[in-house]
Amino acid sequence: MTNSLSPRAQEMAARFKELYGSSPEIIVRAPGRVNLIGEHTDYNDGFVFPAAIDRDVMIAASPRKDRQVRVFALNFNQSSTFTLDGVQPATDTRERWSNYLRSMAWVFHEEGLGTAGMNVALLGDVPLGAGLSSSAAMLVASGLSFEASSELNIDPVRMALLAQRAEREFVGVNVGIMDMYISALGQKDHALLIDTRALTYEAVPLPKSGISIVIADTNKKRGLVDSEYNTRRAECERAVELLKASLPDITALRDVSAEQFNALSGSLPEITAKRARHVITEDARTLESVAALKAGNIVRFGELMNGSHESLQRDYEVSCRELDTLVQIARSIDGVYGARMTGAGFGGCTVSVVAEGAVERFLAEVPALYRKATGLNSPIYVTTAAQGAERLA
Ligand code: ADP
Ligand code: MG
Repeated sequence: MTNSLSPRAQEMAARFKELYGSSPEIIVRAPGRVNLIGEHTDYNDGFVFPAAIDRDVMIAASPRKDRQVRVFALNFNQSSTFTLDGVQPATDTRERWSNYLRSMAWVFHEEGLGTAGMNVALLGDVPLGAGLSSSAAMLVASGLSFEASSELNIDPVRMALLAQRAEREFVGVNVGIMDMYISALGQKDHALLIDTRALTYEAVPLPKSGISIVIADTNKKRGLVDSEYNTRRAECERAVELLKASLPDITALRDVSAEQFNALSGSLPEITAKRARHVITEDARTLESVAALKAGNIVRFGELMNGSHESLQRDYEVSCRELDTLVQIARSIDGVYGARMTGAGFGGCTVSVVAEGAVERFLAEVPALYRKATGLNSPIYVTTAAQGAERLA
């Protein structure tokens, strides 16, 4: 089996054998993601346009005869053990990372899917807490390992829904569907235009040459993110409730056109109107950006990315000084088509679409300029769109 595996999967198999004494029967991987455009729309039934990135969480596992799950996190040199009967969150804070695996065991049980005990080793190279969704990679990889060990056959959209329920109800973060959906369904060399209401997608090829997707990390830890995220969700729901007075058929901001909103926004409280305007214009920008990409118009795609950032900064107010600074610096580099914050905001990463010939300049100049402005380092990842989650062995 091991010969056809990638070097990383072979290393994974070897590390598993060191830990548990025999080769793993199962190896799976699930990637992180970068969202090109369509931010804070996935919990408003709207459109998003992410790609899976070439960084992932890999899990090696073998079924056990009992109901125990033993898991070793190679990144942290830390182990954790739990039983499948009445799965609980980790009590020791040093084992909090195991909650993603635990949450998938929990949700499989909740939804009547069988689970088997396992020995597990996991290793990831998605940067943690940087807004590239290492958490979704953990959830989806965990789900795939339970699917394999229990000989189930789970549709990837259902896997994404299971992962979303796990993060919401067990981990306790009220997330949308985008991160787990793209991790489960991503396609090599494509970004997916996902309709988060219908849970369908269109795979859109990214140009084979000429541009690169460049991620830059602000290195600002995302402190406020959970509470502000919940506030934004509540403000969007409030906007829908108020707009229903004139538009009784709407159930989400997705249903409100720009024309309808412009006619009605004056009747909303100022903050509510700003939040709704972001979501409604972002849906329109996302659809237009995909049309521009399909037409080969990268310049327009970049303009719409820039527009997305401005809207997140001014109307949705989820940016921060570090994100704004890094976006401005990226745009100052000759050959950058567009740059925006990506992910929930308040820190995390920016994404830029960069002419291939300008990538070296970006790498040489952006970190130095950012350090000068903020005193912070900025790790940069030049990425390509990767395949979504898969079983490798
Ligand atoms: P993000 O999804 O933006 O990376 P989150 O805070 O949602 O940030 O998820 C990060 C958490 O996911 C980490 O704190 C850790 O608990 C878990 N995690 C991610 N990757 C790994 C890994 N390779 N090994 C163990 N835990 C991981
Ligand atoms: Mg996350």
